[in-house]
Amino acid sequence: MLSIIVPCYNEAEAVPYFYPELMKHLKKAIGRSRYEILFIDDGSKDDTVKECLKLKEKDANIKIVSFSRNFGKEAAILAGLKESKGDYVVLMDADLQDPPALLKEMYDYVKSGEYDCAGTYRVTRKGEPPIRSFFARAFYKLINKLIDVEIVDGARDYRLMSRKMVDAIISLSEYNRFSKGIFSWVGFRTKYIEYENVERVAGETKWSFWKLFAYAIDGIVDFTIAPLRIATVSGLLVSLFGFLYMLYIVIKALTIGDPVAGYPSMIAIICLLGGIQLIVIGIVGEYLGKTYMETKRRPKYIIREIR
Ligand code: UDP
Ligand code: MG
Repeated sequence: MLSIIVPCYNEAEAVPYFYPELMKHLKKAIGRSRYEILFIDDGSKDDTVKECLKLKEKDANIKIVSFSRNFGKEAAILAGLKESKGDYVVLMDADLQDPPALLKEMYDYVKSGEYDCAGTYRVTRKGEPPIRSFFARAFYKLINKLIDVEIVDGARDYRLMSRKMVDAIISLSEYNRFSKGIFSWVGFRTKYIEYENVERVAGETKWSFWKLFAYAIDGIVDFTIAPLRIATVSGLLVSLFGFLYMLYIVIKALTIGDPVAGYPSMIAIICLLGGIQLIVIGIVGEYLGKTYMETKRRPKYIIREIR
């Protein structure tokens, strides 16, 4: 059986397009094998659930999991993985930006046993604001320098996995979940399939620039402590510089007897050091905050209803 997990947050406009398009390609991909479609309603405020229920009347393989409020896509993905029963599981957005036409190829790769996972990445970012693309590219370069596992530039959450891999992902019980990193971290043989970016079929993206920025910082903090080390090293460098400069001033005062002037340079140095200290405290704070959230051991989502 193949489980199709679809996180939905205010996707009432997209869902009616999504289902027929999915079915068109699903039959081709899995033949007469069984399937289940799990719509994870992430606290939608529009008619998403109504639209899903309409589909459910026609197709008994649909299951709708409703959260008690909006918990975010990461939580929706986790809930989907936990609720899924299939031998294979695929994650898919509701807006048709993850082309169902790729399903057959993905399914064949994993079914053959050669791979445990078939992932996808976009080679183009057509239809996206250039500034967003620029920062996205910079993010992938940076995070791949910092973390041990590789995250493919443009990789989507659209991926088909074997049950083994899904169980491994579920076994990571962390509260701060950066799925892109988790998929790479659990390992397994992954085949990446490329495709051209597709624009959203209906509705609007749920990601503002700042939300993405925060997501990028979360991704780095969740997967590496490199920033802490950078803070330590920059502290060492600045201290070393300060020490050498102090020697220079003392020696100069003793030999030439230069009266101490330099109020402006003093202010500049105080500002510089103050700034560096605040940044470092901020970095430490990021990790402390994450640790705080982890220690609370709160559930990652709360289910209101399963239909
Ligand atoms: N989504 C979700 N919870 C959220 C935000 C988004 O479940 O809080 C879902 C959304 O319904 C969609 C998928 O995650 O199916 C991707 O969201 P979106 O298309 O807005 O992101 P983009 O494709 O622009 O990166
Ligand atoms: Mg989208």
